[in-house]
Amino acid sequence: MSAPLLPGSTIGVLGSGQLGRMLGLAARKMGYRVHVLSPGDDTPTGQTADREVVADYMDLDAVREFASRVDVVTFEFENVPTACAEAAAERVPLRPAHRVLHTTQNRLREKRFLAGAGFPVTPFAEVRTLDELVAAAAPDGPIGTPSVLKTAGWGYDGKGQALVRAPEEAEAAWREVATDDAILEAFVPFEREISVIGARGRDGAFDHWGVIANDHARHILDLSVAPAPVAPEVAREAVGIARGVLGELDVVGVLCVEMFLTGDGRLLVNELAPRPHNSGHLTVDAALTSQFEQQLRTVCGLPMGSTELLRPAAMANLLGDLWWPAAEAGGSHAGAAPREPDWSRALAFPEVKLHLYGKAQARPGRKMGHLTALAGTPERAAEIALAARRALGPSGRSERP
Ligand code: AMP
Repeated sequence: MSAPLLPGSTIGVLGSGQLGRMLGLAARKMGYRVHVLSPGDDTPTGQTADREVVADYMDLDAVREFASRVDVVTFEFENVPTACAEAAAERVPLRPAHRVLHTTQNRLREKRFLAGAGFPVTPFAEVRTLDELVAAAAPDGPIGTPSVLKTAGWGYDGKGQALVRAPEEAEAAWREVATDDAILEAFVPFEREISVIGARGRDGAFDHWGVIANDHARHILDLSVAPAPVAPEVAREAVGIARGVLGELDVVGVLCVEMFLTGDGRLLVNELAPRPHNSGHLTVDAALTSQFEQQLRTVCGLPMGSTELLRPAAMANLLGDLWWPAAEAGGSHAGAAPREPDWSRALAFPEVKLHLYGKAQARPGRKMGHLTALAGTPERAAEIALAARRALGPSGRSERP
C-alpha cells in the first residue's frame, strides 16, 4: 500500500458545490491544498480552493491536466460523467473508485446492485416505455400503485420523480418524468426516513456517525436530527446495512445510505450517495470528526478520526425561498426581487451555527446554507434549529410532510 498523503499534498475535487466547499475547508484546516474542477466559476468550492479550473467535465484533456497537478482525486457530486472520472484516474488515484461512482449514479444499477447483494430494497421495475410503465403499475403488475416513477439517471432532490397514485395516472407521470430510462418503485408508507453515513479506509476499517433521522419537504431534505429516535436494534441493523454496502462496493471514502423505516420495523434502502451527505452536515459542529474531515482522511489513506457525537444536534436547511419573505409557500416568487435574510435573527439563538455556501444567486428550492443547533436532547436541538429558521422569515417555517 502506498504511503498516506500527508498535509501539504493537493486534493483534487470534481464538482464544486457546498460538499466540496466543506471538504475544502476541512482540508485547508489540516494544511492540504485544494484544486477543484467544474464548469462553474466562483463556485462554493472554488471560493475556498487554491485553484479553480473552469472546464466541462467532458473536456478530458483539461481533466487529465487537472489530475496531473494533484495527488488524489475525489468527487463531491455523483453526476460527474464516468469518462471524466476515468480520465482523472489515468493520472492519480480516484477515491472512491470508478465502480462506486458508476453504480450509484444510476438508480437502476444501484437498486440491482443492492438487491443482488441481498440488501433490502423497495420493490422496483425497469420501465423504458409508457407501455412498460402501464404494465408495471397495473393492479396485477409487479409494482402496482401507489408507486413512484423516477428517472434512472441524473436525479437528485426529488427532480425527475412523479407519484403514480392510481393506474390512470401512469400516462401523466410518464410525460412529467420525460425519459426512456426510468424505474418504478412501490410507494413506501414509511414511518421515518433515516440515513447512516459510513466511512471506510484503504485497509477496510469502517466507521459511522450512528443513525440520523431525516424529514423531507417537497422531496428536499428539510431537517436532520442525531441521534435518531430509533430502537437500538433498528440502529444496529441500519449500521450493519451501511457497513455491508461500503464493504461490497469496496468504498475508500464516505458514502451515505438513505433508508426507509416502515411501521412494522423493516428497513429498506432508498438511495446511496457516494460522498458526504446533507444529513451529515451536523457532524461539522457536533462530532469529534466531521464527515468532511473523514472523507479527507480516508481518501488520503490516513487513520480515521473518532466519529463520536459530542452533543445531540439538528440541522435545518436554508433554501433560496428565504430570499422572498413575502412569498408564502405556494405563492409566487415571480416579479419580486430577492432580499438577503437578516442572519442576525438566527444568530440570536446562541446554540445555533450558521453555514452559508457563498452562492451568488438564490432560487426557490436551491440549497443556500444550513443551521445546526446543539442541545441536551435531539428534540430540543430540533426545536431550536426550527425556531432559528422561522426567525429568518415566513418561508423559513418548517414544512414537514
Ligand atoms: P429520492 O430522490 O429517491 O431520495 O427521493 C426523495 C424523497 O422522496 C425521499 O426522501 C422520500 O421522502 C420520497 N420518496 C422517494 N421514493 C419513495 C418511495 N418509493 N416511497 C415513498 N416515498 C418516497
